[in-house]
Amino acid sequence: MHILITGGAGYIGSHTVKKLVKTGHQVTVLDNLSKGWRAAVTNARLVEGELANQRLLCELLQAEKINAVMHFAASSLVGESMQCPADYYANNVTGSLILLEAMREVGVPYFVFSSTAAVYGELVEIPIPEDHPTIPTNPYGATKLALEEALPWYYQAYGLRYISLRYFNAAGADPEGELGEDHDPETHLIPLVLKTALGQAAEVKIFGRDYPTPDGTCVRDYIHVTDLAQAHILALEALAGGVVPSIYNLGNGNGYSVLEVVQTAEKVVGKLLPKAFTKRRAGDPAILVASAERIKRELHWKPCYSDLQTIIETAWRWHQKNPLGYAKY
Ligand code: UDP
Repeated sequence: MHILITGGAGYIGSHTVKKLVKTGHQVTVLDNLSKGWRAAVTNARLVEGELANQRLLCELLQAEKINAVMHFAASSLVGESMQCPADYYANNVTGSLILLEAMREVGVPYFVFSSTAAVYGELVEIPIPEDHPTIPTNPYGATKLALEEALPWYYQAYGLRYISLRYFNAAGADPEGELGEDHDPETHLIPLVLKTALGQAAEVKIFGRDYPTPDGTCVRDYIHVTDLAQAHILALEALAGGVVPSIYNLGNGNGYSVLEVVQTAEKVVGKLLPKAFTKRRAGDPAILVASAERIKRELHWKPCYSDLQTIIETAWRWHQKNPLGYAKY
């Protein structure tokens, strides 16, 4: 297949591009490089452009004879979304609807959507199944949910076949060491911990110690980015095989607290790290842990790299080799 990957220069997108090309698919990346890195796209054509440019999208879909779109491009920070909800609605809702419109115009039948555990909000059941109530506690989750809610109607009216993948906490780096996680500014826990180990940050800040969790810090389900990438390939194959549109959680079912992540990282890097407790970050639910039974059962997805130690080891290898991230290229 020939697949358009929006946001393919970003963290999860670039790992998926690499895996898709290795599997034998043809890939074109569309990215405005606001968050992504040219150097992260090593084996596919990169088109620099905006999601909001419907003409460009139509031209690309048509000229490249695209069969499927994987839509990673989005604003994806919980904290930032609390400050700038308008940007999140513009990028994640309006931008995505423009993409769907272009796909409809050109007649592209398959859509894999990057959704998030943030659609759930505070929990009534753990691990979280896909039919858990969705009451997002932040605009990031709300905007992803808004698009998810549009998709069944697009399927019913226009026949758009989709799979929505609700990522829990993507983490780790390409086991071959070629790709990694690099955000500017960095806000994610694991890269920040590793930057502290490299001496690039003074201390690890732990946001909140009064959550209703065993050690008082937030619990998250960390899932290796290469396992996430593999799930996209399975989703694509399932769509091409005629599966009905569906929503799948992507996580391990194992929750780790912020403190546990820091302690595992200390083991991996071989030293204790300076840490400070600070106040809670707005919009953070206490616990997000997935049930990924549905995708395991229906698409035979099997995470291979997702124990916390492996996640942090692969990330640490990339950070040590690329202390300046992609910026040095
Ligand atoms: N976190 C933290 N200190 C940091 C960054 C994150 O304590 O410097 C916490 C955050 O509150 C959350 C967890 O680590 O509970 C994971 O946050 P991250 O930003 O990595 O991912 P998110 O859960 O927002 O997708």
